[in-house]
Amino acid sequence: MCLTLPGQIINLKKNAAFIKNNETVQKINISLLPNLQINDWILRINNLAIKQISQKDAQEIIELLEGQKKINLSQINARFRKIIKASNVRCLTKKEIIYLLNIEGPEKEALFSEANIARKTNLKDFICIHGIIEFSNFCQNDCLYCGLRKQNRKLKRYRMSVDETVKTAVKAVKEKGYKLLVLQSGEDSFYTDETLCEIIKKIKEKCKVFILMSVGERGYECYKKMKQAGALGVLSRFETSNPKLFKKLHPTGKNFKNRFKHLKFMKELGYFIATGSLIGLPGQTIEDLADDILMMKKWANMISVGPFIPTAETPLALAPNNAKIKNWKVEMNLKMIAVLRLLMKEVRIPVVTALETSAGEDGRKKALRAGANSLMFNLTPAKYRPFYKIYGNKFYQKENIWEKYGLFKYEESYKMLEQKMTKELEKKNIYA
Ligand code: SF4
Repeated sequence: MCLTLPGQIINLKKNAAFIKNNETVQKINISLLPNLQINDWILRINNLAIKQISQKDAQEIIELLEGQKKINLSQINARFRKIIKASNVRCLTKKEIIYLLNIEGPEKEALFSEANIARKTNLKDFICIHGIIEFSNFCQNDCLYCGLRKQNRKLKRYRMSVDETVKTAVKAVKEKGYKLLVLQSGEDSFYTDETLCEIIKKIKEKCKVFILMSVGERGYECYKKMKQAGALGVLSRFETSNPKLFKKLHPTGKNFKNRFKHLKFMKELGYFIATGSLIGLPGQTIEDLADDILMMKKWANMISVGPFIPTAETPLALAPNNAKIKNWKVEMNLKMIAVLRLLMKEVRIPVVTALETSAGEDGRKKALRAGANSLMFNLTPAKYRPFYKIYGNKFYQKENIWEKYGLFKYEESYKMLEQKMTKELEKKNIYA
């Protein structure tokens, strides 16, 4: 389930091939592909060759994963260099983060380049591909920015049954090789705690997969039961670290303290936590975004950060969003990814669909080159997708090289992910 940098075979010996990778020669076990020849291109999981690919496809993957050129920092100002150096030994201060979020031009490119180097150094050349299944678009809340809000009477609502959700998940794992799935819905009490646990258990009985639940604030007991049923993690954004702004966006039903109370007990229950915020909310400042970064540093095992997209049938539908503002949000999203990568060298940073929707086809490449290291593909059955409208005109990636070469059904691929997630969960905050 990882797209990795291809290697070209330069020598062969018994069950081993030698590939050149970033100027170093690496020995690879080729027992699964005994007929390889010198000059063939392969994909690997750790040191095991798992697939032969064409030179054309290899070049395309190399371009995707290696496109960012290293920028010579001697051309960049001293303050920038000092902050980058500091990020290797300590957490940055809010003031330093604000500085990085405000930079433009060559400094901004240098920030992306440094974050890309941090990704490659700490996570090698693996881009993980995960899947998301949106199993219900009912929600009992009224967050001002969200198209699923209860008051949106124009939205056609759907709920997937237990069997349909399980079938969709198992198919993604068995037929495509997904190893991590997010099961997401609005806050929908139609699904009891027991029903959610039944979904988790049935999926886990039928296939080997990591499950992250994204079902809103359902209280301690529900999260305890879902953990016992086999859920590994949660996806729960705090949306903004500014309590006043949070209150404005959630005039009813939600409160800031309860959001963090949930994150706290989720952490205590041992969940792998994916969390983050929205960028470009009305009334939000750069200071707020810097606080969001520090908040993610505190809570997240996986980051979820994306631009706010004004959505029809919501109170924020008419929030300004011309081309200039849209572009600002995309660039700010990329800068936030880069700063987060510098602060959290091994954390999982997926490219969220809202960024792809705002940035277009190139958003994915740009985010990976700014330090992101994973992708989230939408696996919701096609008949429901148009109705999961948190925001409109959602971007859907067509089947392409990412799915073709980024998903493997091998056990090694599951083990590799397990090692990475366990390491992330066990990691102490080195700056604490
Ligand atoms: S953001 Fe979540 S809780 Fe709020 S309305 Fe949308 S789906 Fe419901």
